[in-house]
Amino acid sequence: MTDTKPKPKKPRGVARLLEGKCIACGARCQSVCPVNCVEMTDSGEPIIEAVKCIGCQKCIKICPASALEMYFTPEEQKILAELAASAAPVEEEIDPEAAALAKKLAAYRGVWVFIEQTEGEPAKVSWELLGVGAGLAKTLGVELCALVIGHKVEHLCAEAFAYGASKAYLLDAPVYWHYRTEAYVEGCCHLIETHKPEVILMGATGMGRDLAGAIATRVATGLTADCTGLAIDDKRNLMQTRPAFGGNIMATIMCDKFRPQMATVRPNVMPMPERQEGAQGTIVRDGFTVPEESILTKVVEIIRDAHSKSAVDITGAEFIISGGRGLMGSENFAMLQELADELGGVVGASRSAVDAGWMPGDRQVGQTGKTVRPKIYIACGISGAIQHLVGMQDSDMVIAINRDSSAPIFEVATYGIVGDLFQVVPAITKKIRELKQQRK
Ligand SMILES: Cc1cc2nc3c(=O)[nH]c(=O)nc-3n(C[C@H](O)[C@H](O)[C@H](O)COP(=O)(O)OP(=O)(O)OC[C@H]3O[C@@H](n4cnc5c(N)ncnc54)[C@H](O)[C@@H]3O)c2cc1C
Ligand code: SF4
Ligand code: SF4
Repeated sequence: MTDTKPKPKKPRGVARLLEGKCIACGARCQSVCPVNCVEMTDSGEPIIEAVKCIGCQKCIKICPASALEMYFTPEEQKILAELAASAAPVEEEIDPEAAALAKKLAAYRGVWVFIEQTEGEPAKVSWELLGVGAGLAKTLGVELCALVIGHKVEHLCAEAFAYGASKAYLLDAPVYWHYRTEAYVEGCCHLIETHKPEVILMGATGMGRDLAGAIATRVATGLTADCTGLAIDDKRNLMQTRPAFGGNIMATIMCDKFRPQMATVRPNVMPMPERQEGAQGTIVRDGFTVPEESILTKVVEIIRDAHSKSAVDITGAEFIISGGRGLMGSENFAMLQELADELGGVVGASRSAVDAGWMPGDRQVGQTGKTVRPKIYIACGISGAIQHLVGMQDSDMVIAINRDSSAPIFEVATYGIVGDLFQVVPAITKKIRELKQQRK
């Protein structure tokens, strides 16, 4: 006969407050308790209803002041001591809530990138996102997929394969010809509910921002806008890094209880991946459409912005010469334009220069302006505030001209020139002209 002694169960205990340690942080312990057994006093301290506590330890883990501990009755302490002495196998209780969450999250797999297009023309940011998405998919051990929606847009699937996708989900119908939130949200949500992706990336463009927010609301998940960094942690969570509090800190945001994990990234933030000519993939065609009569928005006419003809798109420029408050006035930007003309580049500006009315808003580089990634970025009279740096620090080469040797711009500069820009800039322009003359 074998010994069938029951395995001892490890007591879970109950949470209790350590006197004088609570810093009244704002009821974090109460907010995480899954069984609502924490009440708050007027002074912001918790009262834990011991009979209801299931000993999950969530309040203890979240408390920033280590003001909570697990309490075990003398009998429970005896069992714990016996268990420790006997080294008998302990039957750990599985947290049913954690198990249910793990099961829910495991149903979602795959990294998707929304391929933004207008009348069949793709937005470059989509390829940049496939580049970063490939790294995420590799870490997760899943497929990188393109989400292509439009009318007569099958060619974009092949293009997506060339930029790294191995599968493309395609919704191709006249109703998707022009971007309209209702139709695209319905189409995307249909595909998400059917195939359950783990991560969805979209460009932080007008279309991407509109669509991502609407989808996240519909599928009840989190969305982080304007990410500057994306990575995966050891629990398959997407670590979404972006500037916060006016750009003064970088925050890493995670959506660890909901899927899909959604993020938008501005154009030019991520590098372009290499194009692999002839790369193959699988196209999953889906006939889902939305009845035209159910869509309230009708595109009557497309009127191009008159300003856009004269506007300069600094995001596509290879050489950018930017001016800041050190330029002292709008008239001095002509000096930067001369240098830009010699290099075949464009003139950008800091927000101070834009706010002063020296340059139009579409030239602003930075957190609330454009993100640029030129071959050469020349910063003239720009101090290098973090809100400016986030928009240009990924340029291939940064040349900073500033008379203050301790200006933060020098920290991201490949080459720094400490001097008066009114002498340095014309001298560079002159030198370039001379070199060009010699070559003729
Ligand atoms: C929420 C938020 C969003 C923002 N978004 C942006 C953004 O998108 N883009 C952006 O640029 N800023 C942004 N800002 C503003 C940012 O914080 C800075 O105030 C701004 O970038 C400073 O501009 P600047 O470098 O031109 O001016 P300053 O900080 O005043 O620097 C001028 C520099 O010029 C130098 N200088 C002066 N004269 C000369 C000379 N003759 N020769 C050489 N050097 C000279 C000085 O030494 C100084 O370093 C934002 C701020 C907030 C709060
Ligand atoms: S241990 Fe768990 S159940 Fe008990 S009070 Fe803390 S959060 Fe609530
Ligand atoms: S989490 Fe900690 S510090 Fe915050 S209220 Fe609860 S016991 Fe106090």
